[in-house]
Amino acid sequence: MQLSRLRPSVFAIAALGWLMSSPAPGQTERTRPLPTAAETTLIAKARGIHDRALTLDTHNDINVNNFGFSRNYTQDLGNQVNLPKMNKGGLDASFFIVYVGQSSADDGFEASGYQRAYDEALSKFEAIHRLTRVLAGDQIELARTVADARRIHALGKKVALIGIENAYPLGDERTAVARVKEFYERGGRYMSLAHNGHSQLSDSNTGETTGWKWNGLSPLGKEVIVEMNRQGMMIDVSHPSKESMMQTLQITKAPIIASHSAVRALADVSRNLDDEQLMALKANGGVIQVVAFASYVKTDSAERRDAIKALREEFKLPPGTNLSPRRGGPGGGVGRGTGGAGRGPNPLAALGDEQRAALEKRVAELDARLPPPARATVKDFVDHIDYAVKKIGIDHVGISSDFDGGGGVDGWNGADETFNVTLELVRRGYTEAQIDQMWSGNLLRVMDEVQKVAKGLLAAAK
Ligand SMILES: [Zn+2]
Repeated sequence: MQLSRLRPSVFAIAALGWLMSSPAPGQTERTRPLPTAAETTLIAKARGIHDRALTLDTHNDINVNNFGFSRNYTQDLGNQVNLPKMNKGGLDASFFIVYVGQSSADDGFEASGYQRAYDEALSKFEAIHRLTRVLAGDQIELARTVADARRIHALGKKVALIGIENAYPLGDERTAVARVKEFYERGGRYMSLAHNGHSQLSDSNTGETTGWKWNGLSPLGKEVIVEMNRQGMMIDVSHPSKESMMQTLQITKAPIIASHSAVRALADVSRNLDDEQLMALKANGGVIQVVAFASYVKTDSAERRDAIKALREEFKLPPGTNLSPRRGGPGGGVGRGTGGAGRGPNPLAALGDEQRAALEKRVAELDARLPPPARATVKDFVDHIDYAVKKIGIDHVGISSDFDGGGGVDGWNGADETFNVTLELVRRGYTEAQIDQMWSGNLLRVMDEVQKVAKGLLAAAK
């Protein structure tokens, strides 16, 4: 948030913070005790830090239907990120995501499939540009550099940045390298080479259950990495496989990021980074933007996961099928929420009525015997931040949500609740300087370095 506006007294702010915080389980608004003096002081301190920081969330999905004249981000649309919610929660900057899902269509890796993906990507770039140029230029502006981001923030406006999730729309060897430059010019400042499912450029983390296509990066993927360094676009390793990340680190001349990943030591899912990956990221000078995505923050017990796997196999369902879709549980369901594109057909829909009823009964029995964990909270999320900071140091850790793409934890379910993250960081004893680093300092340092490396490569080529 900006500090330039009129500041009410710290006590009023503290009281407001208390009112906005959620009651603990079992408490209602009426039974919740008043904050103690120490708590009031802590909330006021956190509020000051939050207001002065440049708070940046590196991963928010979009739905192009929310960028029209009658329906757009100047309204609270009921999704997780929009301008009223950013204002309410003091979220200053957001990477909006040009996401295109990996196609499994027959022509997915042919010219027609690539064309569809490219068209979809362009519609998302255009939606973001429409927001910052036409719909709400007085409230939010697109940043192409770190200096832009700081200038826009100082004006009291929100900062929009663009990240590209899945480089699949780059197409084949005829177009891929040239489109890196094109996407950069359209404002893209980071890009991942794969999403869920292998692309023409890289293996995805999902290969852990389905097998590998490239054993890391494809030859074309390696060329794209080189070109991203040349253009000054950050390389994002959230979603690509571990081997892909390790090969990327062999090639890149600039620091890389994981735009929305959590810690595998605390939640054993293939989307998260293990200790070896974290150490490699540190050696590279990169940053992990720890993601507040409930099922990447907190997973089922090993026992429950085994039981779910056995049930899937018994009902001949593909690995990763979410057996409790309503819960969006860690069993693999990573629904993209209201902001994302379609996820393809649900394998459960293919079951006959009788089989479906039998499966439901078995899932209910399983839930009774090995209950699913309670949904992850801000505290669970900050446990991942603590772990990463202890492992690789404060300089390499940042914050992301994956809002409107399935993200959110109890207490940080939308941009409007962003203060709760700062409050928990203050509770854990982080200083203002450290919190500033995690909210944007580290990420912007990497973005700056990546652009400097590009300038150096350009100069060397002359
Ligand atoms: Zn993602």
